[in-house]
Amino acid sequence: MLQEAGRAGALLTIDLRALRANYRYLQGRLGKAACGAAVKADAYGLGAVPVSKALVAEGCRHLFVAQLEEAISLRAHIARDIDIYVMHGSPVGYEAEFIEYACTPVLNSLDQITAWRKLAQERNQALPAVIQIDTGMARMGLSQAELTAWLNDFSITDGIDLRYAMSHLACAEDQLDPMNQMQLKSFQNVLERLRQHYVGLKASFSNSSGIFLGPDFHFDLARPGAALYGVAPVAGQASPMHSVVQLQGRIIQVREIPMGASVGYSKTWRATQPSRIATVSVGYADGWLRSLSNCGVAHIAGVEVPMVGNVSMDTITLNVSHVDSDLLYSGALVDLICPNNTVDQVARQAGTIGYEILTSLGPRYQRHYVD
Ligand SMILES: *Cc1c(COP(=O)(O)O)cnc(C)c1O
Repeated sequence: MLQEAGRAGALLTIDLRALRANYRYLQGRLGKAACGAAVKADAYGLGAVPVSKALVAEGCRHLFVAQLEEAISLRAHIARDIDIYVMHGSPVGYEAEFIEYACTPVLNSLDQITAWRKLAQERNQALPAVIQIDTGMARMGLSQAELTAWLNDFSITDGIDLRYAMSHLACAEDQLDPMNQMQLKSFQNVLERLRQHYVGLKASFSNSSGIFLGPDFHFDLARPGAALYGVAPVAGQASPMHSVVQLQGRIIQVREIPMGASVGYSKTWRATQPSRIATVSVGYADGWLRSLSNCGVAHIAGVEVPMVGNVSMDTITLNVSHVDSDLLYSGALVDLICPNNTVDQVARQAGTIGYEILTSLGPRYQRHYVD
């Protein structure tokens, strides 16, 4: 155990076998529709390169990032016949880099469409793109007015090889939210009108949770992220996904404190009886969120122990009064994210979502990929 963590204060294990199993499961649910993957934000903190390579080995041919910079870094490791889509589209003036790095922009506005068309005309070359349409989330994609302008003048996409029409769901994890059906109807209507001009136009609609809303939501290409990485896709239901991430922090020291002593910054926890406290080298600088102060937990040999006191920058403190002292040596690893305390459970304790726990995973962890 000790040597596995090396010198680092904590060990992050990323199980690429579980990731692959999750990919196969989602592809299975999608049937004939293709399963792409959202690998933005360094694959939600798990490592875009190893994650993408493992997914490509499973047959994934469509990778989605948010920004051009992410696509360029990824392209160095991923064959050019695998599509990399940049969901924010091109930063103004950087359109030509998409050709250089064989990346496909998601065009979100008439301005982005115009700039892409201009480049296509200059190059006298059909340039691939996805066009995103806002069906209610009001975050990205053509607005209703821009869509109307497009439907009235299809020449704005002259020179563009339109690969997919795309939209994004706002509440897919809540299967009962009526917004899901509203967005679906809206997207179906738009597609019907677009396909009168773009015959056979393909479509991409669902994130992880959308896949679980049923076949109507699948279209041609899905873009799951979170579920691949082990986050539960459906609120209030047992998750079918495998855990991908395990986090273990190392005990630095253990101390006995008397009744009445306080622990940590601002004295937010006080011992009501003589207690034993273990200090572990993971803190909010590692993405172990400060909101876990006095409500997070760890596991030592399967026994749950409460985090007490505030989370510090580099450490947390655990009340280990009831743990066998043989297990409490300097250098021992305690489980922070594990099957007993999943990413979703940690998120609940921290008052956030699994996505934020994953994307916060810190750079100081020693990372270990299992495949
Ligand atoms: C992040 C993102 C996804 C992936 O979402 P998950 O909920 O992680 O599956 C898909 N599409 C868009 C537009 C996104 O921004």
